[in-house]
Amino acid sequence: MSINFYRFGLVGYPLDHSLSPQLHQAALQSLGLSGEYRLYPISPFEERDVALKDLLRQMRNGVIHGLNVTIPHKQSMLSLMDALTPDARAIGAVNTIYHRDGTLIGENTDAAGFLADVARYIACYAGNCGAALVLGAGGAARAVVYGLSRTWKQIYVAARRQEQAQELVNDLRLHTTSSECSITPLSLDIQSLRQIKNECDLIVNATPLGMFPDVESNPWPEGEPLPENAVIYDLVYNPSITALVRSGRVGGHTAVTGLGMLIEQAGLAFECWTGKKPSRERMFQAVPSDLAPERM
Ligand code: NAP
Repeated sequence: MSINFYRFGLVGYPLDHSLSPQLHQAALQSLGLSGEYRLYPISPFEERDVALKDLLRQMRNGVIHGLNVTIPHKQSMLSLMDALTPDARAIGAVNTIYHRDGTLIGENTDAAGFLADVARYIACYAGNCGAALVLGAGGAARAVVYGLSRTWKQIYVAARRQEQAQELVNDLRLHTTSSECSITPLSLDIQSLRQIKNECDLIVNATPLGMFPDVESNPWPEGEPLPENAVIYDLVYNPSITALVRSGRVGGHTAVTGLGMLIEQAGLAFECWTGKKPSRERMFQAVPSDLAPERM
């Protein structure tokens, strides 16, 4: 059945600063399609399940053609889906919902979105990727570690609560297909980082440190040199140059924010809904200029 007017949306709370409407409008325009992308702010406190189920009913009825999901509903959506993709199951969160033959499918495009963007900065092929260090062990870190575990040999996960890193590692061991990858939990402190940092070709910040308005915070310990030649990838994308990216660039590193991942994960969600690939360049151009760094 061809669709003349697509209806997509984002469910989460709060949604005031979301870039998703601009990104998806640009995606639609890049393909000459008509449609809208609405925000559905659903508070986690009042009638949450009723409101979420009502949105899902609209998807089943074909009124809404695709949904993105963000904090705080990414985990609660797991049990409301008819089926989960392997990525959503392994990451333990749904960020995209699509409809196939009467079935509502929960997907997570964060891991694939991260891999698609990071591949622009680090040449790495199956079997020859070295060690990566991920700072933080929350939802985004799970997606990043899961994605990297497909091709990297060693991943360190450093969290201020080491037990959270251990939990992430235990959970992902159940889902990672590659036994070649070793995933090691660490404490996010200067001594632990010093011991392993020089092995690492890639450092990923998956904590919110440095995010607006706390723009001077840096997850990397002050005064500690970043490992030579490592690519620095900061999932934070507001501001357009974070304190970590700035310190990386001062040290001569390739250092980028997570804006590219945001665009890639949105593009992949759009592909789930429409079966069509939107122009990432047009989506990038839709980002407000104060958030758009120069393309490297
Ligand atoms: P989350 O689930 O809340 O996890 C955050 C992680 O950072 C946790 O391990 C948390 O530890 C740690 N952390 C928080 N404050 C810290 C501090 N002051 N010092 C050290 N560690 C700290 O959040 P998330 O969903 O993973 O998101 C993390 C960041 O990634 C956010 O800034 C988000 O905007 C960004 N993100 C970007 C993209 C993208 O497309 N670019 C996608 C997803 C997320 P505790 O549990 O101990 O607090």
